[in-house]
Amino acid sequence: MKVAFIGLGHMGAPMSRNILAAGHDLVVHDLRRDAADGLVTDGATWAGSPREAAAGREAVITMLPGPPAVEQVLLGAAGLLAGMPAGSVWIDMSTSTPAVADRVRAEAGPRGVAVLDAPVSGMAAGARDGTLQIFAGGDAATFAAARPLLAAMGDPERIVHVGPHGAGYTVKLMINLLWFAHLTASAEVLTIGTRAGVDLGTLRRCLLASPAASHFLDRDVLSVLEHGDYDEGFALALACKDLGLAVDLARVTGVPAPVSAAVEQIYRQARARYGDAGGEMLPVKLLEDLTSTPLRLPAAHHQDPPLAGP
Ligand code: NAD
Repeated sequence: MKVAFIGLGHMGAPMSRNILAAGHDLVVHDLRRDAADGLVTDGATWAGSPREAAAGREAVITMLPGPPAVEQVLLGAAGLLAGMPAGSVWIDMSTSTPAVADRVRAEAGPRGVAVLDAPVSGMAAGARDGTLQIFAGGDAATFAAARPLLAAMGDPERIVHVGPHGAGYTVKLMINLLWFAHLTASAEVLTIGTRAGVDLGTLRRCLLASPAASHFLDRDVLSVLEHGDYDEGFALALACKDLGLAVDLARVTGVPAPVSAAVEQIYRQARARYGDAGGEMLPVKLLEDLTSTPLRLPAAHHQDPPLAGP
């Protein structure tokens, strides 16, 4: 398939690599020319603008920071849409909102260009391994036609058509909102418990064997507890963008969301303190620093078996 890929960052670069590896003909573009160096060496073609990238392509994928970049890349004289041929499809895999995509769709429809939102979960490691979870929003025929291309980047079992246009964005924002809430709540629980005198490893194992267990406590928190790694593969600036979009969605839908608002504020504090490029798990460090309570398991605890529960 003739594919173009725009946005070669932490996620887009490895996703493009998997598209190339699957045998597709690939054109790439990014604001940073050097982001494409390795891909061009491996057979991709560089394009100097989104419009140039889109020329003659059957599918164009964007993996951009958020709504403003999506709008900038799609619309306008040098934008993607101006270069996309009739019969092609724009697949936006960015974590974004329906509002921008709706504006693009209004222009894309009359030109015969189909649109699919298909944001992802699975972090940079999932992008590298081609095991992303993909949530597609759009009509069923467009999804079916795009599915083989999506399978080059995601786990075929977890590529899901979740509803009409915009549904993919919504599902993705809700996943991130709940994950960030798990992170901030877990940081508080682990800090309070250890400050009260319970061993961190024991506390975590008891939580895992209880109804309060979570995937976050079981898996994701270990990068902090074992290695002091706050995951720079996903920047605080992007986490704050996602939380802002999720809280906006609560406002638009009229849902009172005080917990979500508090989680957003905690993330904004972490961003102000550690910077835009800091890792998404730094709100844990915020509490560690405020209370002088490092949350680290000694190396001997790393292999502790889980407790049988509940
Ligand atoms: P990133 O900042 O590493 O990459 C974004 C890329 O887009 C950069 O290379 C940047 O130069 C490029 N770009 C920005 N504006 C552009 C423009 N106008 N024209 C051309 N290129 C432009 O971000 P990322 O971590 O790869 O995330 C990309 C998207 O995926 C975001 O929407 C993010 O929320 C989402 N996401 C990220 C992760 C993760 O773990 N990093 C996981 C799931 C989803």
